[in-house]
Amino acid sequence: MNLVIFGPPGAGKGTQSKFISNKYDLHQLSTGELLRKEITDKTDLGSQISSIINAGELVSDKIVSNLIEKFIAKDIFKNRLIFDGYPRNLNQAKNLDTLLNKHMQKIDIVLKLSVSLDTIKKRISERQNQENRADDSEKIAIKRFNNYELTISPVIDYYKKSNLLKVINGEASITEINGEISGLIETIKG
Ligand code: AMP
Repeated sequence: MNLVIFGPPGAGKGTQSKFISNKYDLHQLSTGELLRKEITDKTDLGSQISSIINAGELVSDKIVSNLIEKFIAKDIFKNRLIFDGYPRNLNQAKNLDTLLNKHMQKIDIVLKLSVSLDTIKKRISERQNQENRADDSEKIAIKRFNNYELTISPVIDYYKKSNLLKVINGEASITEINGEISGLIETIKG
């Protein structure tokens, strides 16, 4: 099973992806984590993208596509991927279908965590205290939320049309969300 999870930054998609990957033995593919690793490893790519990421802007579609294809192409990850942070726009959503198709796979379910801006602000300020991420100040957080809402709505429509989209109330407790997601996945697995 391949799964897409999305929600605005701070919606809890990282937490939920970890839960799903442990429970169903899937691999969490977080494009944000992959990109941040390039920066900490001081690779050429990392130096190209650090200012973009720190400003809360999106990295180019091509760069992110190349990163995720490395995983899609590997046998050990076949039908075992959770896409966390990808796709972020319509072009990426179409590209993901093309890449999966090329490697004889498809998306089985799309989970959208729905959360208000007020909740996001609260969670981001908590995370800033714990992780001290450079892109987690409140101003940047609001910018990322607004950018996210703008680019993601065509993606939501795209997955609605293909009947893959499940909307989850991201304001509920972590355990409640875990339960709701498990229920949805069980129906797909039959
Ligand atoms: P995240 O950890 O998913 O919130 O991502 C952190 C940052 O990485 C984003 O603000 C973007 O700068 C970059 N990023 C992550 N995923 C993508 C993507 N699919 N397309 C473009 N940029 C991305």
